[in-house]
Amino acid sequence: MTQAAKPVLEGFFTTGESPALLGSRCVKCGTFYFPSVEGFCRNPDCDCSQFESVELSRTGKLWSFTNACYKPPEPYIAKEPFEPYAIAAVELAKEKMIVLGQVVEGVGVEQLKAGLEMELVLETIPDAVEPEGKLTWKWKPVA
Ligand SMILES: [Zn+2]
Repeated sequence: MTQAAKPVLEGFFTTGESPALLGSRCVKCGTFYFPSVEGFCRNPDCDCSQFESVELSRTGKLWSFTNACYKPPEPYIAKEPFEPYAIAAVELAKEKMIVLGQVVEGVGVEQLKAGLEMELVLETIPDAVEPEGKLTWKWKPVA
Protein backbone atom coordinates (compact mmCIF):
# COMPACT_ATOMS: atom_id res chain seq x y z
CA MET A 1 0.00 0.00 0.00
CA THR A 2 1.37 3.38 -0.89
CA GLN A 3 0.97 6.10 1.66
CA ALA A 4 0.64 9.75 0.79
CA ALA A 5 3.69 11.78 1.71
CA LYS A 6 3.49 13.77 4.91
CA PRO A 7 3.96 17.54 5.03
CA VAL A 8 7.51 18.68 5.70
CA LEU A 9 6.09 21.04 8.35
CA GLU A 10 2.82 20.49 10.21
CA GLY A 11 0.38 23.36 10.20
CA PHE A 12 2.02 25.36 7.40
CA PHE A 13 -0.34 24.40 4.60
CA THR A 14 -3.40 22.38 3.74
CA THR A 15 -3.13 19.37 1.46
CA GLY A 16 -5.53 18.12 -1.16
CA GLU A 17 -6.51 19.30 -4.60
CA SER A 18 -6.26 23.03 -3.88
CA PRO A 19 -3.56 23.39 -1.26
CA ALA A 20 -3.21 26.68 0.58
CA LEU A 21 -0.69 28.11 3.00
CA LEU A 22 -2.01 28.54 6.53
CA GLY A 23 -1.42 31.90 8.10
CA SER A 24 -3.02 34.01 10.75
CA ARG A 25 -4.86 37.30 10.70
CA CYS A 26 -5.15 39.82 13.50
CA VAL A 27 -8.84 40.04 14.43
CA LYS A 28 -8.52 43.78 15.15
CA CYS A 29 -6.38 45.34 12.41
CA GLY A 30 -6.56 42.55 9.83
CA THR A 31 -2.79 42.17 9.35
CA PHE A 32 -1.89 38.80 7.82
CA TYR A 33 1.02 36.68 9.00
CA PHE A 34 2.83 33.70 7.53
CA PRO A 35 3.92 31.58 9.24
CA SER A 36 1.18 31.94 11.85
CA VAL A 37 1.96 34.05 14.91
CA GLU A 38 0.95 34.00 18.55
CA GLY A 39 1.32 36.67 21.18
CA PHE A 40 0.94 40.27 20.14
CA CYS A 41 0.22 41.78 16.75
CA ARG A 42 3.40 43.24 15.20
CA ASN A 43 1.55 46.26 13.88
CA PRO A 44 2.87 49.09 16.11
CA ASP A 45 -0.56 50.79 15.99
CA CYS A 46 -2.35 47.66 17.19
CA ASP A 47 -2.46 46.22 20.71
CA CYS A 48 -4.40 43.10 19.84
CA SER A 49 -3.28 39.58 20.74
CA GLN A 50 -6.02 37.59 19.07
CA PHE A 51 -5.52 35.91 15.73
CA GLU A 52 -7.66 33.77 13.52
CA SER A 53 -6.24 30.99 11.39
CA VAL A 54 -6.73 31.65 7.68
CA GLU A 55 -5.99 30.00 4.38
CA LEU A 56 -3.91 32.43 2.34
CA SER A 57 -4.34 33.17 -1.38
CA ARG A 58 -3.25 30.29 -3.58
CA THR A 59 -2.11 32.64 -6.31
CA GLY A 60 -0.01 35.74 -6.61
CA LYS A 61 2.36 37.69 -8.78
CA LEU A 62 6.00 36.80 -9.19
CA TRP A 63 7.79 39.62 -7.37
CA SER A 64 11.37 38.39 -7.67
CA PHE A 65 13.26 35.16 -8.27
CA THR A 66 16.71 33.64 -8.31
CA ASN A 67 18.56 30.51 -9.25
CA ALA A 68 19.95 28.04 -6.70
CA CYS A 69 22.91 26.47 -8.51
CA TYR A 70 24.67 25.01 -5.48
CA LYS A 71 23.55 22.19 -3.29
CA PRO A 72 22.26 23.64 0.00
CA PRO A 73 24.04 22.42 3.17
CA GLU A 74 22.54 19.77 5.44
CA PRO A 75 19.94 19.20 6.79
CA TYR A 76 18.67 19.91 3.25
CA ILE A 77 18.52 16.67 1.34
CA ALA A 78 19.21 17.20 -2.33
CA LYS A 79 18.48 14.87 -5.18
CA GLU A 80 21.57 13.14 -6.56
CA PRO A 81 22.85 14.40 -8.89
CA PHE A 82 21.92 17.86 -7.67
CA GLU A 83 19.77 19.81 -10.09
CA PRO A 84 19.68 23.61 -9.89
CA TYR A 85 16.27 25.00 -9.04
CA ALA A 86 14.61 28.38 -9.00
CA ILE A 87 13.36 30.20 -5.91
CA ALA A 88 10.44 32.56 -6.23
CA ALA A 89 9.22 35.45 -4.08
CA VAL A 90 5.51 35.73 -4.77
CA GLU A 91 3.22 38.56 -3.71
CA LEU A 92 -0.02 36.93 -2.58
CA ALA A 93 -3.06 38.14 -4.51
CA LYS A 94 -5.17 39.25 -1.56
CA GLU A 95 -2.77 39.70 1.36
CA LYS A 96 -0.04 41.47 -0.66
CA MET A 97 2.61 39.75 1.40
CA ILE A 98 5.68 38.12 -0.10
CA VAL A 99 6.09 34.37 0.39
CA LEU A 100 9.23 32.55 -0.69
CA GLY A 101 9.23 29.08 -2.12
CA GLN A 102 10.97 26.82 -4.58
CA VAL A 103 9.66 26.77 -8.10
CA VAL A 104 8.30 23.43 -9.31
CA GLU A 105 10.64 20.93 -10.90
CA GLY A 106 11.18 21.51 -14.58
CA VAL A 107 10.72 25.29 -14.49
CA GLY A 108 13.95 27.28 -14.51
CA VAL A 109 14.71 30.98 -14.19
CA GLU A 110 14.77 31.34 -17.99
CA GLN A 111 11.01 30.66 -17.95
CA LEU A 112 10.31 33.22 -15.25
CA LYS A 113 9.55 36.91 -15.50
CA ALA A 114 8.56 39.42 -12.81
CA GLY A 115 4.82 39.94 -12.76
CA LEU A 116 4.04 36.39 -13.85
CA GLU A 117 0.92 34.87 -12.28
CA MET A 118 1.96 32.05 -9.93
CA GLU A 119 0.02 29.30 -8.22
CA LEU A 120 0.75 27.31 -5.06
CA VAL A 121 1.21 23.56 -5.55
CA LEU A 122 2.61 20.73 -3.44
CA GLU A 123 5.54 18.54 -4.46
CA THR A 124 7.39 15.82 -2.64
CA ILE A 125 11.03 16.36 -1.73
CA PRO A 126 13.53 13.76 -0.50
CA ASP A 127 13.56 13.11 3.22
CA ALA A 128 16.06 11.43 5.55
CA VAL A 129 13.44 9.33 7.33
CA GLU A 130 10.46 8.97 5.00
CA PRO A 131 11.28 6.85 1.94
CA GLU A 132 8.38 8.39 -0.01
CA GLY A 133 9.66 11.88 0.75
CA LYS A 134 7.73 14.75 2.25
CA LEU A 135 5.36 17.33 0.86
CA THR A 136 6.32 20.97 0.59
CA TRP A 137 4.79 23.99 -1.11
CA LYS A 138 6.20 25.28 -4.37
CA TRP A 139 5.32 27.97 -6.85
CA LYS A 140 4.25 27.18 -10.37
CA PRO A 141 3.59 29.61 -13.22
CA VAL A 142 -0.10 29.62 -14.14
CA ALA A 143 -0.28 28.22 -17.66
ZN1 LIG B 1 -3.36 43.87 14.74
